[in-house]
Amino acid sequence: MSATTELQARFDAALMPNYGTPPIALSHGEGRHVYDADGNRYLDLVAGIAVSALGHGHPALVKAVADQAAAIAHTSNLYLHEREVELAERLRALLGGDAKVFLANSGTEANEAALKLVKRAAGPGRGYFVAAAAAFHGRTSGALALTGKDAIREPFGPFGMDVRFVPYGDADALRAAVTDSCAAVFLEPVQGEAGVVPPPAGYLREARAICDATGAAFVLDEIQSGVGRTGHWFLHQAEGVVPDVLTLAKGLGGGLPIGACVGFGDYATAFAKGDHGSTFGGNPVSCAAALAVLDTIEGEGLLDRAAELGALLAERITALGHPLVASVRGAGLWRGVVLDGPAAARVQDAAARRGYLVNAVAPDTVRIAPPLTITRAEVLEFTAALPAILADAAEGDDGDRRR
Ligand SMILES: *Cc1c(COP(=O)(O)O)cnc(C)c1O
Repeated sequence: MSATTELQARFDAALMPNYGTPPIALSHGEGRHVYDADGNRYLDLVAGIAVSALGHGHPALVKAVADQAAAIAHTSNLYLHEREVELAERLRALLGGDAKVFLANSGTEANEAALKLVKRAAGPGRGYFVAAAAAFHGRTSGALALTGKDAIREPFGPFGMDVRFVPYGDADALRAAVTDSCAAVFLEPVQGEAGVVPPPAGYLREARAICDATGAAFVLDEIQSGVGRTGHWFLHQAEGVVPDVLTLAKGLGGGLPIGACVGFGDYATAFAKGDHGSTFGGNPVSCAAALAVLDTIEGEGLLDRAAELGALLAERITALGHPLVASVRGAGLWRGVVLDGPAAARVQDAAARRGYLVNAVAPDTVRIAPPLTITRAEVLEFTAALPAILADAAEGDDGDRRR
């Protein structure tokens, strides 16, 4: 029995079945590589779902976390600590001066904070929310109510919230749905879990204008797109749009759990004392990790790298002209490789057998979201391996090429 098989049996016996049985048991990582429990090495092009922005074991992150854990790991919100102040100051500097920050532990909690914030700001008479079909905003009840994937939302309703879904990218449908009785519009600037799906050009600007015209809050969920993933600090900046509320998580902590809900303008100060809180939110270790992530993105020029190597990745995949690849979409180091049919799971498996982690985000789409520290040589190594991976997937071949 392999170490992986044994761990899977223990996993199945001890953990709830909500994730199924993951096919790979990771033991450790180094740079852009991860190792499984049987010692196999993989080039990591998933980064724990766009989270491990600095890869694995980056010295800046390791030092920040170790030093902070040694100094003080937890304070609760009864006491402030300098790391949370520094992080909020850094985010304000990156986002524009009038922003204010609430720190949470995850993406879904950042969206729960955003929901409460917009309810606080909206006042009576704004009774419903608008979100997009196929959107993903998280798994807790409020965020789930806004999530446009029926299969994961419907079994757990009703949520006590009136949420109206519109097709993503359709500005006319959005305009028709948003009135002066709407509390807020929640959108992703590119839909991540739907398969890294960008909207048509100008959609976010139209959404902003629709919210301005009706007084609805414009909430952008940049939990997956933010913090350098696309080659910009935040994707809304590239679009020249400022939301009322912005949510962040995933890449922000580089692997440590942290989320942020950022309010702009009146939304910066809509919470009154006592309105919201979290015991762990903004804990010193996660804040120290996030500061290391932001410093390293800046210090190592990772925004430019994401833009440049993301373009190279997309260009090389497209240039293969492989019949299984229909198109490559997305921005920076955040790509959806759209296949000519529902072969994504087979591509994911074939890639793993050859030592590459990619993610079948949708039946016909493979998501590629490597650490932002990936090198040109690693991108080229992957694109050179891709024809063989696609050939394995096309044949449904499940032989082991890696060992
Ligand atoms: C991952 C994700 C979330 C949820 O984040 P969790 O940390 O898993 O709760 C919300 N919105 C978007 C866009 C995401 O990609």
